[in-house]
Amino acid sequence: MSIPGDAYASRVESVRRGLAAEELAALVVFDPHNVRYLTGFTGSAGVVIVRPDEVLLVSDFRYRLQAATQAPDTRFIEPDDQLRDVLPSLLAGLDAAVGVEPGHLTIEQWRRLEGALDEVPHRFVDGIVERLRMIKEPAEVEAIRRAAAIVVGVLDHLGEMAVAGRTEGEVALDLEMWVRTHGSEAVPFPYIVAAGPRGAMPHAETSDAVLLPGDLLVVDIGAQVDGYASDVTRTYSVGKVGAAERALHELVLEAQEAARHAAHGGMTCAELDGVARGVIEAAGKGEFFKHGLGHGVGLDVHEEPRVSSRSVDVLRAGMVVTIEPGVYVPNLGGVRIEDTVLITETGIDVLSECDRGLAELG
Ligand code: ZN
Ligand code: ZN
Repeated sequence: MSIPGDAYASRVESVRRGLAAEELAALVVFDPHNVRYLTGFTGSAGVVIVRPDEVLLVSDFRYRLQAATQAPDTRFIEPDDQLRDVLPSLLAGLDAAVGVEPGHLTIEQWRRLEGALDEVPHRFVDGIVERLRMIKEPAEVEAIRRAAAIVVGVLDHLGEMAVAGRTEGEVALDLEMWVRTHGSEAVPFPYIVAAGPRGAMPHAETSDAVLLPGDLLVVDIGAQVDGYASDVTRTYSVGKVGAAERALHELVLEAQEAARHAAHGGMTCAELDGVARGVIEAAGKGEFFKHGLGHGVGLDVHEEPRVSSRSVDVLRAGMVVTIEPGVYVPNLGGVRIEDTVLITETGIDVLSECDRGLAELG
């Protein structure tokens, strides 16, 4: 099931309601994932203008045919030269100010556009589309569920692989090949395969470091279906690891389990973060868990809501977030356990359900 065509019209209607609440008449959308969310258009160059009467997709000749197929409900606009030349006329005749998405433009890009808007009342408005994207529709959940199932498959495959003596990069490439040949339309983020002390860098880049017996191995990977990502981490031992490494893994597993059991619609993101953080702090390892507990997952691998101690968001049924406590000890290694989960009224539906134990890889 891909995203049904009528989803876009109802999303646009929701944007219009959001604009009305902000006393705005239109929205200029620059973020490519927001463009895709509102229209279905996946091209790399496109600006969407949501007006009260219609939705405009401004792009160029390279995307004319693609837009006609993917975004039939939009009016395609192809400026002769620059967006700024047509922008004032596309925003004419409105009875309130125009909202401009600030998140995606560089200051340089904005400087080029700003002059064109001299005569058009406008202001920056944050998060109108991002707030909608937080609550997933059934077809979006289905896409993420499929993307998560592909990752579960590749983790099974990893359990059979011999990794000792190979490099992080070689193992990562094997995993990428596997997901791409098992239904993932892309590799949604650079895979993390971080062995031994390198695992103490939460976002380690894969290197030519060789995996050695006694290493903890952090494997953080994802797949992509219909544009939607999954994001899953498991931590392994290469051969046998020492008692200190085992204890770290047990602690993170306990924290992750506590958060999975506590999570449900209606609780705040900060509360959920606190559940896992409390377990790790009680063990005296709080200083080694410095990132938030998780994040929304969707068209972006990292999107709203942020599941952190500073977040003011409330978890709602239909949100898809990660639960990923981690402990990173310099010179020893890292452990992270991450699942992609759907929030429900009463709990969660783990989309990436598979073994979390400290599996030993050969
Ligand atoms: Zn991850
Ligand atoms: Zn993540």
